[in-house]
Amino acid sequence: SIVVTGATGHLGRHVIAQLLERVPGEEITAVVRDEAKGAGFAERGVRLAVADYNAPETFDGLFSAGDKVLLISGNEFDKGRVAQHQVVIDAAKAAGVALLAYTSAPGTLTATLADDHRATEEAVLASGLPYSLLRNGWYHENYTENLAPVLAHDAVVTAAGEGRVSSAARADYAAAAVAVLTGEGHENTTYELGGDVAWGFDEYAAELSARTGRTISHQSVSGETLKGILAGAGLPDALAEMLVGVDASIARGELVVPGGELSKLIGRPTTPLAVAVEEGLKG
Ligand code: NDP
Repeated sequence: SIVVTGATGHLGRHVIAQLLERVPGEEITAVVRDEAKGAGFAERGVRLAVADYNAPETFDGLFSAGDKVLLISGNEFDKGRVAQHQVVIDAAKAAGVALLAYTSAPGTLTATLADDHRATEEAVLASGLPYSLLRNGWYHENYTENLAPVLAHDAVVTAAGEGRVSSAARADYAAAAVAVLTGEGHENTTYELGGDVAWGFDEYAAELSARTGRTISHQSVSGETLKGILAGAGLPDALAEMLVGVDASIARGELVVPGGELSKLIGRPTTPLAVAVEEGLKG
């Protein structure tokens, strides 16, 4: 069976939908925390397993020998994601799965956000299981799903300077995961995945201006200033710090992913940023 954790998240929903285009529902297991959130999957014949990264016993016996497992990284930054992911890795190892794929971050990324991913990658390697590290670059949606503050001030405020980002749509990264889970020969691979086109925030602001008919500018500020703005908007300190760290990484070019591995893996160009901007503006 193909087993996907974090199946009810944004990425996971794309993965399940795209898997259903390739394999029958009964060959797919969606791991969910909240069974009600998985109801739509069950209606389409997908098997549900209820488990929580914080409760290791819920993963006992969940996997079978020969399964191909996609571990989608968690989003509970304050709960120790490495230990959470280890729970899944241990269960996969106990079962003897055929492939353990993990949604990681670009190998170039040094922001603290990447620490959990590096440590999880080490745990995956230490398990000795056949693995595939899907080092996902940034999502378009990180920007385009949160346009309200931009439109409120006609400004894209970053601490990223001239830095560029090779982002792609979540659906593109999901397609890569599906290619690895349903294809052959992906054992012991590391893929650096990103969009075909790297863009800067000046261009992003210009795209927003063109599509709204307004004058939206990119304002690049210092990390300290951005942290103050984010804190003022009510973000917890740790989160503001993390986002500022990401912008510093962008300024250093760490979220540019060359090589086109994502489009090669999915057999088509990645989704242009403009498409995601258009979606985001629809709200
Ligand atoms: P989401 O926040 O939408 O999804 C996170 C998923 O993890 C959800 O399905 C959630 O379950 C599940 N999850 C969280 N904690 C637990 C837990 N304790 N036990 C079981 N499941 C848990 O993120 P996305 O789908 O958009 O992205 C997937 C992951 O990629 C993120 O979690 C994050 O690690 C990373 N990410 C990458 C970004 C990028 O640009 N590359 C940007 C943002 C995040 P539930 O549905 O029940 O909430």
